[in-house]
Amino acid sequence: MYIRILICAVLICISFQVHSQTTARRIVIAASTILDGKGHVLKNTRIVVEGTKIVAIDPKASPIDYDLRGLTVLPGWIDAHDHITWSFGKDGKNVGPGETTQEAAYRSAANAWATLMAGFTTIQSVGSPTDLPLRDAIARGELPGPRILTAVEPLVGRGEQTGTPDQIRAFIRKQKESGADLIKIFAAQSIRQGGKLTMSQEQLNAACDEAKKLGLRTLVHAYGDAVRAATLAGCTQIEHGTLATDDDLKLMAEKGTYIDPQAGLIIENYLRNKERYIGTPGYTEEGFAAMEKILPLNHQLVQRASKIPNLKIVFGTDAVAGSHGSNAEEFIDRVRDGGVKPLTAMISANSLGAEALGLGDQIGTIAKGFQADIIALDGDPLTDITTVRRVAFVMKGGVVYKNAIRKPSAKGA
Ligand SMILES: [Zn+2]
Repeated sequence: MYIRILICAVLICISFQVHSQTTARRIVIAASTILDGKGHVLKNTRIVVEGTKIVAIDPKASPIDYDLRGLTVLPGWIDAHDHITWSFGKDGKNVGPGETTQEAAYRSAANAWATLMAGFTTIQSVGSPTDLPLRDAIARGELPGPRILTAVEPLVGRGEQTGTPDQIRAFIRKQKESGADLIKIFAAQSIRQGGKLTMSQEQLNAACDEAKKLGLRTLVHAYGDAVRAATLAGCTQIEHGTLATDDDLKLMAEKGTYIDPQAGLIIENYLRNKERYIGTPGYTEEGFAAMEKILPLNHQLVQRASKIPNLKIVFGTDAVAGSHGSNAEEFIDRVRDGGVKPLTAMISANSLGAEALGLGDQIGTIAKGFQADIIALDGDPLTDITTVRRVAFVMKGGVVYKNAIRKPSAKGA
């Protein structure tokens, strides 16, 4: 009798534990409008989350934990080009990613928090060795921030000094060993210095080929001639792309090379923070004068690129000190100045952005089996793109980091 009672008690205890675990981890989100990340609009349904993933889209799921009706729900955004550790130092001036003090580490963590609160649940940093501890702390759940992919140390083209093809291949392997998720290559000067090609075709071929062999993607900082050279080298993605011709863009479309142009935020941020950048390495009066001339060229690039059939245009901001947490401004620039359709702009930072990262089956889409990266905007970005500034809800990997919904939740409806 005593044993029977004991067994019963154990069974009740086990069943209670299993039940409480599954119920605690199940979250139902009600939505009136969902942009699924792939271009479809779902109406009046519910997203069911268990653990880190979306397990169902079910209009009958209940009880409701988060009522996002009246908002626009979409997958967390992906920024393909970020410099998460760049910040302004104690004197208010740009220190880039070079500082490794405790203050700089806290500033990086603050940048990550601001970026997540702005609706970005994944970013690609292109890159700095200081990304690594931040990436790993966030991945372990110890710090709030977007999922980070990093290039660690970029390969900087310096003509012959870049190295022989064998030396370049060794450099790429070293990044992989250091924990790089991708490879960043500078195949052109800064646009502030003219944007000329800084690597030979042979050097670029070696870099992108070695990365491919290691299963790493290659992102190439390129303008003008460097765009075609990087495309011919079989590199994965072109960053910036200013001064590319329509023929270059068509070649990219043909070869499936992604392009990540910046319609405005990066230059607007530099101009706004000129005093904090000027005099720091790489930032001169001449450089600032050049940027004012380049801004309209960047608008034109986005306009031209949008008209090239099958060209895969992803979303990347090139966020540096001063723009962490304002990444979504680039959506406004793309739509207002680049002539991009709002839905296309959203997809570029959702399913297409995920595909470019090689994570197309894991993030960037609201559907069963995907990571529960879910944000909600207070308004409709398809009719007013400035809605991207009003992020009311952020969930990443099933964890809610922001819930600033104004109306009370309709529990159990
Ligand atoms: Zn950059």
